[in-house]
Amino acid sequence: MHFKDLNITPALLKALHDLGFDTPTPIQEKAFPVVMSGKDVVAIAQTGTGKTFAYLLPILRQLNFSEQKQPRVLIVVPTRELVVQVTDEIKKLTAYINIRYAGIYGGANINTQKQLIYNGLDILVATPGRLMDMFLSRTLQFHSIQKLVIDEVDEMLNLGFRPQLLSIMEAIPPKRQNLLFSATLDEDVEKMIAGYFHQPVYLELVARGTPIEKITQYAYYVPNFNTKINLLEYLLLTDESIKKVLVFVKNKKLGDILYKSLEPKFIGEIGIIHSNKTQPQRFSSLKKFLEGNNRVLIATDIIARGLDIPEMSHVINFDTPKEPGDYIHRIGRTGRADKEGSTVTFITEVEKLFQIKIETLMNKKIHMLDLPLEVEISNILIPEEKPIKKDKNLKKFNKQATPKGAFHEKKDKNKKVNLGGKRRQETKRRKEAKFISKMK
Ligand code: AMP
Repeated sequence: MHFKDLNITPALLKALHDLGFDTPTPIQEKAFPVVMSGKDVVAIAQTGTGKTFAYLLPILRQLNFSEQKQPRVLIVVPTRELVVQVTDEIKKLTAYINIRYAGIYGGANINTQKQLIYNGLDILVATPGRLMDMFLSRTLQFHSIQKLVIDEVDEMLNLGFRPQLLSIMEAIPPKRQNLLFSATLDEDVEKMIAGYFHQPVYLELVARGTPIEKITQYAYYVPNFNTKINLLEYLLLTDESIKKVLVFVKNKKLGDILYKSLEPKFIGEIGIIHSNKTQPQRFSSLKKFLEGNNRVLIATDIIARGLDIPEMSHVINFDTPKEPGDYIHRIGRTGRADKEGSTVTFITEVEKLFQIKIETLMNKKIHMLDLPLEVEISNILIPEEKPIKKDKNLKKFNKQATPKGAFHEKKDKNKKVNLGGKRRQETKRRKEAKFISKMK
């Protein structure tokens, strides 16, 4: 199969050719005729399968020149980084066609983004929160949307964007084509499909829970967090095959501790990306890693999900994920595009239970390695690892404590939450009421 065999315009073919892409990936081949037919699509495909072009190609093929201001295609993605990634992909494909597009996301100047919409657009790429802000402020209208793409929907639901997603689905005229892309298909996603999609065609590319074959999976039993740091340092110092590594951590706090500990020893080699970092920091860390200037990127699951990072030699699970599905996603970040990839997982005593769940899901054992003798075993535990002591005095205190003891209710004036000024609250309330009454 060649891109020429799909019903693609010469301008798109030329753009693909410039990128060095001549043959469609399986998801692109499968999705093209279905999207062109106008049917709703639910595609289970992970990042790295070429799924972005799978929906962009038929969309761009069908999008004619227009001077209409409001967008006709809406692409909703969970994170700011993905907005940038998708708009970059549109840029590449539209090198020889006149299509207006823009990306909007929270945490950036809203007025600059409003101007992009006022200028007129064909395709809008957005995160759900900022999208709803634009809609409620009447900058953006949905009446001309013909195609709605929801990418990485499972991640959006994980991030708590369900209300915004439902509002978006309600607010866009129902006569539209829905295209949904998700790495997993769970009950939450199925509910959404049942409520808003019309007899969708299901395209499943990677069987759920199947690890990508080419990935070599190793693991070490490591007693605690600080020993994990020692092991990671050792691996980075001694294993030259670790050229570009994504290190997954379970939360921002532990990520920051790890960063602080590694940075002085590997100056200029370590980056970190999580939701507490400012937008410029996030973009800069990612850019340095993508361009090969940083060897290591420490990341939480949420931020790393969906990002296309080519040529990654390793994924290290600094903690063993509790959810086996997360493990599959994480390791799927390496071994891309016919390249071999390796994953290394650090497993504590507590995490052995998660290992069993992962191995059961994969129906495959992870190859265990002995902890190298050179790695110093630390006895210093971080607060999370310290056993919870039963305090005798606390027991006595609890017995004596009356309901009105030391833990009294907050005074009313201290319960207040800052909701903005009265005028802002009133405007917001009116907008929401109007929106809800429209929905009814
Ligand atoms: P995605 O799954 O959309 O995140 O895409 C992963 C990577 O594959 C991106 O860097 C794309 O530019 C690249 N890609 C997309 N389509 C093709 C293709 N037909 N052949 C080779 N690479 C592709």
